[in-house]
Amino acid sequence: MADTTTSELGRIGLKRPDLFREQCYIDGKWMGEPKHPVRNPATAGLLGHIPNLGKAETERAVAAAEAALPKWRSASARTRADILRKWNDLMLKHQEDLARLMTAEQGKPLAESRGEIAYAGSFFEWFGEEAKRVYGDTIPGPASDRRIIVLKQPVGVVGAITPWNFPAAMITRKIGPGIAAGCTVVLKPSELTPYSALAIALLGEEAGLPPGVFNIVTGDAEPIGRVLTEDPRIRKFTFTGSTPVGKKLAAQCAGTVKRVSLELGGNAPFLVFDDADVDAAVAGAIISKFRNTGQTCVCANRFFVQDGVYDTFAKALAENASALVVGDGLAGLTQQGPLINDKAMRKVQAHVADALGHGAKVLTGAKPDSQGGTFYQPTVLRDVAPDALLCREETFGPVAGLVRFKTEEDAIRLANDSRAGLAAYAYTRDLARSWRVSEGLEYGMVGMNTGLISTEVSPFGGVKESGIGREGSKYGIEEYLNIKAVFVQL
Ligand code: NAP
Repeated sequence: MADTTTSELGRIGLKRPDLFREQCYIDGKWMGEPKHPVRNPATAGLLGHIPNLGKAETERAVAAAEAALPKWRSASARTRADILRKWNDLMLKHQEDLARLMTAEQGKPLAESRGEIAYAGSFFEWFGEEAKRVYGDTIPGPASDRRIIVLKQPVGVVGAITPWNFPAAMITRKIGPGIAAGCTVVLKPSELTPYSALAIALLGEEAGLPPGVFNIVTGDAEPIGRVLTEDPRIRKFTFTGSTPVGKKLAAQCAGTVKRVSLELGGNAPFLVFDDADVDAAVAGAIISKFRNTGQTCVCANRFFVQDGVYDTFAKALAENASALVVGDGLAGLTQQGPLINDKAMRKVQAHVADALGHGAKVLTGAKPDSQGGTFYQPTVLRDVAPDALLCREETFGPVAGLVRFKTEEDAIRLANDSRAGLAAYAYTRDLARSWRVSEGLEYGMVGMNTGLISTEVSPFGGVKESGIGREGSKYGIEEYLNIKAVFVQL
């Protein structure tokens, strides 16, 4: 396989080659020398380079965001909304190019990348509209000559760090509400998937975003993260990524008492009751488990299946999983791409080995794909022990482990036996049970008879160690607004 930028880029076939940017975006200027290599996980081929910026450049980006803040926060909501709508229009206009770029750097099948670009753009449109609905309150005063008014004002400069698994949507779900609220942003994308972020910045510039409102720095995570969490000019820090890194960054924010939002790891339970529509449950399980090669925070990670349908569900899930086409996401028929890197591959293999060591049996897969690299076969294991690693930790790979249960109480207890609390799924046709289970699950989101729960109109976020705060929906913009009470003595 070729190891040159030209051949990898040629394979992507961008209609607008300038969407591929190898420089950072600070204060409306493209800057930094491309040094750090970025590879395609499907081929290991070199896509290009990005700048390796550090503390000084991040501080420069913070200064630009601070300088842009007064004008941006006092622009009318309509002005901000117009730019955000145009930004979404541009994302859709260039959907195919953005999708191809995303697949090349992240590995997911093209159809999923196209879907993610539309999903990502929807946060610009949604929050542009929400900007016009940032309502305050009037509160009856404690005496006849006193009035209290509640104002909502932008938090200020926002620092943001995002992961590689959704290289566009995890960014727009933060900058959409932040910019709509009147904040300015400095963002660090994952070094594994920077090109989607940089293309989005270019389209923001074309949509009319003033210099300094949105800045991107790439480089070493630690020093950049230090500035974004410790600089007193930054008033809000928002992070999507793993729970251990989230905890560390939240602790770093304590010194300057920043507003903090955390979207962290999950370990989603997927419950199938005897009264479920098993075909629908299998279809939901395939979407929830194998989308993005099992590398989504809301991926079903533990399958709890009731006695009466266990064998039927297991057989059907294995048949459907083994039919998934594994390959390079840029190839037309691919339904499952590679894992992001060798580290991810090692984790998946360790989880499978541990489950087998605890007595699990293989229904399909359980080994690397013959294509080599980081391709792993869609895997279904039965008779997994509830204390296997597969159940205790987020696997982040295409492995479904099935555990049998007898009663509804058992299912809820097993499902809640986790320090994570992001998403959960349940399949039942019993209306009363659907309510009991939805209310009993200690999770921020429940998919009842559905494996797909992501949309800009619904609040996204977790409880327990899966995070703090919500993204999307009418609640998402509140994360970027401060409440001010004005007391008036008549
Ligand atoms: P990660 O290792 O925590 O990295 C996330 C981001 O943090 C990346 O940009 C990374 O930079 C950066 N980072 C790592 N160490 C840092 C440090 N010491 N200081 C500052 N920044 C640091 O997570 P990931 O592997 O990219 O993403 C997968 C995780 O994200 C999973 O646990 C998944 O569940 C979670 N996730 C959660 C949600 C949600 O909404 N709850 C959504 C998507 C993903 P580099 O990559 O450049 O090193």
